Amino acid sequence: MDGVPARGHLRARGTGARTRIRTRIRAWICALACAAAGAAASVAHAAPPYDGPLFDAHLHYNDEAFDGRPAAHPVTDVIARMKRNGVRAIIANSRPNDGTHALADAPAVREAGIAVVPFVRMYRDRTDYNRWFGDDGVRRMVLQQLERGTRSGPFRGLGEFHLYDSANANGDVARDLMVLAETRQLVVLAHVDDVAIDLLMAHTPSRGQKVRLIWAHTGIGGTPPERVEALMTRYPGLMGELSYRPGLTCEGGLLCPEWRRLMLKFPDRFLIGSDTWINARWDAYEQLMAEARAWLGELPPEVARRIGWRNGAQMFGLPPGD
Ligand SMILES: [Zn+2]
Repeated sequence: MDGVPARGHLRARGTGARTRIRTRIRAWICALACAAAGAAASVAHAAPPYDGPLFDAHLHYNDEAFDGRPAAHPVTDVIARMKRNGVRAIIANSRPNDGTHALADAPAVREAGIAVVPFVRMYRDRTDYNRWFGDDGVRRMVLQQLERGTRSGPFRGLGEFHLYDSANANGDVARDLMVLAETRQLVVLAHVDDVAIDLLMAHTPSRGQKVRLIWAHTGIGGTPPERVEALMTRYPGLMGELSYRPGLTCEGGLLCPEWRRLMLKFPDRFLIGSDTWINARWDAYEQLMAEARAWLGELPPEVARRIGWRNGAQMFGLPPGD
């Protein structure tokens, strides 16, 4: 632009300034448009969360949740959490069994439209975790509880119990309770490894063909999905509850491909759960249910509804819901 007259120069400067402004405006428009396009792309990838009813198939109401003064999570708080999160049914069990009675017996829970499916737990206190499988006192306590039932109906299952060493699946009480479960059509909720699944199933009269067993966490130690698949194929009543399951979700909380494949292959065999084994899990209840809703939302709607609600509802004869 050398040699341009002053006026022209000024005009040229003016033109240059206008050009720069136009360029900047174009850049802003582009930035906005690009952001919008990016947002649209990410919306397309992240499906909306599942928004149907939930069946929480792994819920504890242990004494530390309600026996404080004031209670950390009184029944009113439990009901409020269920309602906020669209949880319409729960498998309730507790250490000791008083917490289960507190939920199953409370008219307020029923009036809130929450179905309680009570299970007898093997634990009078923490020491029973490591001895229940061979302790006659536990056997007697379980039989008494079954006899007693709850004000909202009979107990429907046994557990959650733990076997930190799978060989303890062969303990006398473990063996007898598996027979009892099958003969009385009680559902078992077991926190065990894959080896113990085979051992427990072998104790039943049908050798695992008729008993219903919910595998808590579906292998908390990270049992490979192929092994889970083999066990589900072998035992028609084996159900997988998915709290704490390692490798279930990948980057961004999205369902990992091998789990998505398993859920599509066995849509009627999985359940969600909160596992409120400590009060911190009660505090995080909203987040836990939101995480489940997020990955359920990535499945076909019918499969999400099965895993989120219907599989549990069907097991215990609850209405299919809307
Ligand atoms: Zn648990």
